[in-house]
Amino acid sequence: MYSFVDAMSLTMFIPLFQIASGEGSASSTGTSDVFMQVFNYLNLKPTVNSVLLIMLFFFLLKAAFRYFDVYYRVLATSYFNKKIRSNLLSNISNLKYSKFVTLNFGTIQNSVTAEILSINNAFSQYVSVVQNIIFVLVYIGLSFLTNPKFTIIVIIGGWLSRFLFKSLYRSSQSLSYSITNENNKLSSLVLQQVTNFKYLKSTALMKNYLNKINATVDDIEKDVIVLGKTSAKVMSFREPIIVVFLLIAIYIQVNIIGGTFSSIIVILLFFYRAFGSLMSVQQSWTAFLKYVGSIVHYEKFTAELKSEKETQDGMAFEGFETNIQLKNISFQYNDKSKVIDGVSLDIPKNKTLAFVGKSGSGKTTLVNILCGLLSPTSGEVLVDSKKLKDYSIDTFRSKIGFISQETVVFNDTLFNNVTFWSPKNEANLKRFNDVIQQVDLTDFVEKAELKEDIALGDNGVVMSGGQRQRLSIARELYKNIELLILDEATSALDSQTEKFIQESVDSLKGKITIVVIAHRLSTIKNADSIVLINAGKLESQGNYNELLQISPTFAKMVSLQEL
Ligand code: ADP
Repeated sequence: MYSFVDAMSLTMFIPLFQIASGEGSASSTGTSDVFMQVFNYLNLKPTVNSVLLIMLFFFLLKAAFRYFDVYYRVLATSYFNKKIRSNLLSNISNLKYSKFVTLNFGTIQNSVTAEILSINNAFSQYVSVVQNIIFVLVYIGLSFLTNPKFTIIVIIGGWLSRFLFKSLYRSSQSLSYSITNENNKLSSLVLQQVTNFKYLKSTALMKNYLNKINATVDDIEKDVIVLGKTSAKVMSFREPIIVVFLLIAIYIQVNIIGGTFSSIIVILLFFYRAFGSLMSVQQSWTAFLKYVGSIVHYEKFTAELKSEKETQDGMAFEGFETNIQLKNISFQYNDKSKVIDGVSLDIPKNKTLAFVGKSGSGKTTLVNILCGLLSPTSGEVLVDSKKLKDYSIDTFRSKIGFISQETVVFNDTLFNNVTFWSPKNEANLKRFNDVIQQVDLTDFVEKAELKEDIALGDNGVVMSGGQRQRLSIARELYKNIELLILDEATSALDSQTEKFIQESVDSLKGKITIVVIAHRLSTIKNADSIVLINAGKLESQGNYNELLQISPTFAKMVSLQEL
């Protein structure tokens, strides 16, 4: 509509010139008769003033369409952006854990930030391509109605110019793929740098690592420069080529076809507009191709995520009465050898069970199977004799608490960290204060100016390691859990915190079911049952004293730790 109204306002130059120059209505263009009919129909005298008035009307209408054009474009872009972002985030969130561990973190991060921006740019450019193609069609269509022969000559010229740009377009596309891949690699390297900052700094390896990062940056920039060169070629060659075509067309129009001054001017105006739009089509298309790599990456990545989606069908889990059983469980990552090999065991409700064994023996994998994070390759997890896989897995996991040495602290207030963003009403506040007292963080809250609303910062920087551990316990206590999984710290916590955690766990003993991945054997003396895992197999099981008697391996482990 915008281009049509624009073309209409330009067309008004024909009667304007005719009236001004006194060419009269019997001139060679068929269009001027149409104008006279329109003037008659509107009951207007064909004077300069009335033509100017109609022109003004069309230009105002054009402004209105322009408004809707820009506004609608913003709406469409924002809708598109929201949609792909939420699509990607939900695909990542619903991903199976087993797939997640195989992903490159840099790819994930780059996908949800830089790549999304690129796709958004691609969308804008694509809309612009479509819009400008419509503009071209409207201007060319109207010009065709005015002068078919001339129009065909110009169209052929425009079509031929395409071949000149084709190879440039192709190289833009492949460069764009390679830039996306390099960017993924860079994000991953930077993430690892941040994660391992302390190590790299303290061992003076930062410089070597920085060289590695810089090499990737150089690779990217090299590609960016080549891509820029290609864009520059397309942009700079385009206008002279078009001008040559246009000059040839004008030459033919004036010398071969002939026509009145007014119709030549108007057709040139149409073509001026059409070429402007055609240039925009090519420009936007080149810009679009720059981002194609991101779109292809997005498509591939989301397809990959979707193929490993965790389903949530099945019964809702309400809690269990008797036990959780592992029945002849085996597990292997990919095609590798078995990491867990035929493990069967029984975890009675409200008992404490500890896994011990050498590093790499399979303790973490077993616990991951227990949470439904990994599906056993063979065997079955049963909860009250019902298959775990028949439950909607999130309803089961909502009854699980998890405490590990890597404390989970979100950059938010203490209250939100403990309650996981529950509404701050009286009941929730009371429950919060109760658990804060249980984990001995009351002092911390009292001393804080904002009390429970104290901001904890990135990774809980305002808290000590011990306080963060306490916060982790508080969060699990606040949640109504049935099964607590404790991945004991391998690195030493301060002995007071360690003792405290031990006491907290002991105080929960008998109230909920606890599974501990134990590294320090002294902490599991009171466990109801200790399971010794060796190379993915259950080697022996019993309480502390029983195991000391029956398992020389365990006895040896204990004597080594007591040294
Ligand atoms: P533990 O907790 O007893 O130290 P894990 O359960 O973490 O042992 O690991 C058991 C074995 O599985 C190890 O040999 C380890 O190399 C392997 N493993 C762990 N995670 C993966 C993974 N994502 N891909 C492939 N192998 C893995």
